[in-house]
Amino acid sequence: MSDKLTHKNILTKFAVQIKWMEPNLLIDKTQDEARQGEAYASQANSGVFEKHFYVESYGCAMNFADSEVVAAILEKNGFGGTKNIEIADLILINTCSIREKAELTIRKRLTEFKRLKQANPGVLVGVLGCMAERLKAQLLEEEKLVDLVVGPDAYRTLPDLIANAGTGQKAVNVLLSRDETYGDIAPVRLDNNGISAFVSIMRGCNNMCSFCVVPFTRGRERSRDAFSILAECKDLFEKGYKEVVLLGQNVDSYYWSNPENNATTTFAMLLEEVAQIDPSLRVRFSTSHPKDITDEVLHTIVKYDNICKHIHLPVQSGSSRILQLMNRTYTREWYMAKIDRIRALIPNCSITSDIIAGFCTETEEDHQDTISLLHYANYDLSYMYFYSERPGTLAARRYEDDIDLVTKKRRLQEIVDVQWTLSNESNKRDLGSVFEVLIEGNSKRNEAEWMGRNSQNKVVVFPKGNFNYQKGDYAQVKIQDFTKGTLLGRIV
Ligand code: SAM
Ligand code: SF4
Repeated sequence: MSDKLTHKNILTKFAVQIKWMEPNLLIDKTQDEARQGEAYASQANSGVFEKHFYVESYGCAMNFADSEVVAAILEKNGFGGTKNIEIADLILINTCSIREKAELTIRKRLTEFKRLKQANPGVLVGVLGCMAERLKAQLLEEEKLVDLVVGPDAYRTLPDLIANAGTGQKAVNVLLSRDETYGDIAPVRLDNNGISAFVSIMRGCNNMCSFCVVPFTRGRERSRDAFSILAECKDLFEKGYKEVVLLGQNVDSYYWSNPENNATTTFAMLLEEVAQIDPSLRVRFSTSHPKDITDEVLHTIVKYDNICKHIHLPVQSGSSRILQLMNRTYTREWYMAKIDRIRALIPNCSITSDIIAGFCTETEEDHQDTISLLHYANYDLSYMYFYSERPGTLAARRYEDDIDLVTKKRRLQEIVDVQWTLSNESNKRDLGSVFEVLIEGNSKRNEAEWMGRNSQNKVVVFPKGNFNYQKGDYAQVKIQDFTKGTLLGRIV
């Protein structure tokens, strides 16, 4: 790993320090490298179960949220979570297929489970999530130790699948659903900070961006019952949580129709209702597709102080020609106008993006369009990748992956360098400002310091001093300095 590629992320949801795990990947806002492969278990009920499951999660926040649904299903069926893989009766790996590298990491991890299976042949190994959906029963053949393969819409069948696998049968369920949202399942919160929680509001995606495997692995878009979302958020608040992150691949297209009276709920309406639960409950959301984010949503963000002033608005490319090949359904100019609109309505809003370097047929001129768009949008942060062809996607079927790896990496590095300058300037602009910071816990480096986030989702670290603040409190912090990925300040 090149030193040059080491980068601290300032906006990512969880991590204080984010590093490049691979040359092509800078962490997604909802795909936290610090949490990749995290094994986690509910603290609350440990010790009351005779059987134990161990789950490792990879990929985006949706997967981490799904693991909490899986935990709830398993707890109801006699399995308690453990962080100790050695004592687990069931080992699960919740997988990601978004880039080839993600799948290779998981394959490698599966080989490491072999030793455990040899030591304890009774232990069951299950693959969940997008890789399970993409490779289906093929995984059983290729990875000899896998007993269960379960797609993202089939988690309710886990107890039956486990029972089948326990009798030596291979158990596979990768059926995608048009209506499964797990809306009635209260997720078991696994080892998070007790302050911020993910709440899935929809599943799947209908967008068909040509590079993306998500519509194939997670199925059609469907929105969750608004009442169940509100109930979950209220429950979290009553349990002491101070922030909810509304999750979906394309949250702005959330649309739920009440079957009893046909009343509809849009994303702006949902956002408003969640914000009204309590002014001290922060609301975040991710991800917004530029084509779907409406003025109504922007006005709602303005109207409520507790809706965080941060929009993740992935552009993917700054070239209209490439955007068309990507099937993003907007042009460079249209996207720029959207940025203008956000800046006009919400001047203190941070804007972040995802960018793909080296998509099929990308010329140097297209690449320069991306660079100039970065400058125009003046992103606070971007998550940058080079294009990785995914089997079965529209791009894989239609276009040749014709940009060589050296060029992809060089272009990616140029994009990273520009973004780095923009992020640095963004931090510089914060010097002297006072932010309301939600305290998430001790700073990783120093227990005499707190770590929290401002509304713009920047990590802020500051000395505890003689103040009597606790985790979950809000503090007013004046910014005095910054490191690569963190604002540094003091309580005022
Ligand atoms: N639904 C969200 C959106 O549209 O922005 C997130 C999708 S995906 C989980 C996160 C990011 O991964 C995408 O925004 C895109 O930049 C990147 N990505 C998806 N497919 C990719 C591919 N084949 N190669 C490289 N990056 C990819
Ligand atoms: Fe993939 Fe596009 Fe859907 Fe995002 S919006 S999940 S990039 S198809």
